[in-house]
Amino acid sequence: MIWNSGWRLASAVSNAGGLGIIGSGSMYPNVLLEHVRKCKAATNKPFAVNIPMLYPAVEEHVATVIAERVPIVFTSAGNPATWTAKLKDAGITVVHVTASVKFALKAEKAGVDAVVAEGFEAGGHNGREETTTLVLVPLVRDAVQVPVIAAGGIADGRAMLAAMALGADGVQMGSRFACSVESSAHPAFKQHVVESREGDTLLTLKELAPVRLMRNKFFDEVQAAYARCATPEELKQVLGRARAKRGMFEGDLEEGELEIGQVAAGIREVLPAAVIVEQVMKEFEGEQRRIAAMGTAW
Ligand code: NDP
Repeated sequence: MIWNSGWRLASAVSNAGGLGIIGSGSMYPNVLLEHVRKCKAATNKPFAVNIPMLYPAVEEHVATVIAERVPIVFTSAGNPATWTAKLKDAGITVVHVTASVKFALKAEKAGVDAVVAEGFEAGGHNGREETTTLVLVPLVRDAVQVPVIAAGGIADGRAMLAAMALGADGVQMGSRFACSVESSAHPAFKQHVVESREGDTLLTLKELAPVRLMRNKFFDEVQAAYARCATPEELKQVLGRARAKRGMFEGDLEEGELEIGQVAAGIREVLPAAVIVEQVMKEFEGEQRRIAAMGTAW
């Protein structure tokens, strides 16, 4: 959710009854501080900050969430043992994002309060194993004692109910909220997602950090690099710097990196975050009733 989820989206989701998350991976330390303070002013509900461990100034982000008494932190893309104890000592609830049983167990051992089990369908950074949400969630559920939050491919109430049937205690949704009014993504990116179809996203760049992207000119350049058996160093050069900003924040749909999940194919409108939360809950309850009725019909 880098470049997508700032204080506007996080506070809107929290005010609507979800848990809004600020994506700090694209924010310089002073920018995160500003977003945390604005989020506090815009909601009196709990909200969270996601800190990717790969972030170059991760120490400064950790210091900010502690100083600002952010109640919940989602850590991702790195070793949960590095920061969990420090965050928990500060009274913060810690959730770690994982894409495999191995890392879910590692996160539990590190003392996290919950894990996100994020499957292959998810946009942006992804696991190497390509384990789908359908397979990953029950595997993680059976392996750990802490609460499990399912992610990857979930954008409506049907998928939320399905994730809970697989053993999840909650769900995390990214792509659906990337296409919200309050998302800080460029309007051209949001519209492009709304117009996308099945098969428009693919997982690539496993040699650097696996990432799910929409096909575009930049993606084709990556494919061409693979075709000539490029080394990881050459792939790094093709990637360059700030591609994600260019694509998602500045709206360069050809040269930029467009991170979104497979479920983009089912997203048809840009909606206010509160409407999305309301629709998801209505669908979730409607599907529960439909399935309960199937049970009595047998
Ligand atoms: P790049 O190295 O290509 O570019 C860095 C980008 O981050 C630039 O756009 C830069 O903004 C911005 N930035 C914010 N803070 C800093 C800082 N302290 N130092 C340097 N740059 C900073 O990285 P990416 O854009 O691919 O990824 C940025 C971060 O987001 C990484 O930490 C990565 O791990 C994380 N990420 C997380 C994902 C997830 O799914 N959780 C997905 C993708 C990335 P400017 O251009 O204004 O200098």
